[in-house]
Amino acid sequence: MQSAKKILLSILVPIWQILTRRNLSILMIHGVMDRNSAKSSWIPMRFQLSPYILDKGLNILSKKYSFISITEAIDMLTGVIPIKPYSMVLTFDDGYRNNLSHALPILSKYNAPAAIFLSTGHIYTNEPYWYDRMDYALQHLKCNIQFEFESNLYNFPPNNPFELSQSFHNLRYALKSSPSNYLSTLSKINEILSLLENNSHGSLYDIFENDPWTSLLNWDEIKIASKKGIYFGSHTVDHLLLGKVNSQVVLNQLSISKQHIENNTGQSCQILCYPDGDYTPEVIKLAQNCGYKAGLSIRGGINHPGQKNIFLLSRNSFPNRDNYLSIHAGASGLTAFFQRIRLNVNKHT
Ligand SMILES: [Zn+2]
Repeated sequence: MQSAKKILLSILVPIWQILTRRNLSILMIHGVMDRNSAKSSWIPMRFQLSPYILDKGLNILSKKYSFISITEAIDMLTGVIPIKPYSMVLTFDDGYRNNLSHALPILSKYNAPAAIFLSTGHIYTNEPYWYDRMDYALQHLKCNIQFEFESNLYNFPPNNPFELSQSFHNLRYALKSSPSNYLSTLSKINEILSLLENNSHGSLYDIFENDPWTSLLNWDEIKIASKKGIYFGSHTVDHLLLGKVNSQVVLNQLSISKQHIENNTGQSCQILCYPDGDYTPEVIKLAQNCGYKAGLSIRGGINHPGQKNIFLLSRNSFPNRDNYLSIHAGASGLTAFFQRIRLNVNKHT
């Protein structure tokens, strides 16, 4: 870290932490796996948090914060119980099996409860997420592939990992944020997947069941974990962008996933995590009608007790850092605060 930034953070972090001690930072994690220890023939381009970074981060944060469960956090934010200063929450999206095998043993060292958000249809069908399928196919291409999407050309050269990764990143972003009709984007995704898998040495389906990066928890594992105190919440049935589908589809995705989780865990499922943070005011209304009590976004920031909109809780990505100040700045929401200021400044210049 540059020394000027280090000096600035060493002054700002402790001040920020005192000022925000009665606010809650909710941390967001997806897959947790170690590039060196994964017994796998491939390494995803999509970001994976390493167990070393998770352990180091929790070790540093646990000296300042206590980790509380998501349900306690919601109770504190809604005034059911008093806020406990210097609290933090850990959440995992997508329901990867490595959350149980690689993250939870580390969490238990720090007495940190976990909340895992499941896309329940993927568990029933044992179906990988499209972005993981695409990641795998791209890294096993037999030849150079090029195609156009919304007037942009995407080039996937099998022997150029840097360009491959850049193109994958850009394409994923373009697909998620496409202004076109969402159903036509979904069929475009399937078309692209077929093109890539037909031109690659196999597909993720060949290894999915035991793949340490992308395999998903099954219901037996979820039942056991829920008895041990892991909270399971809804990440919809099909990982659909809820703001881009009609009300009936939203209602089905919310009520069916809730039912799936409650039937399998015997616990009530009242917290929703919007896939890719996508929502509309209508989605929130429908979530309330389905019996949800809170919703998690992917917008960085901290949460205030008595917060008006408990259905738009902010989350900060678990800091992928191994130094004290950056870990504290990221996890406490200070980094997100700066990012928001920067965005506002850019908007007005
Ligand atoms: Zn997700």
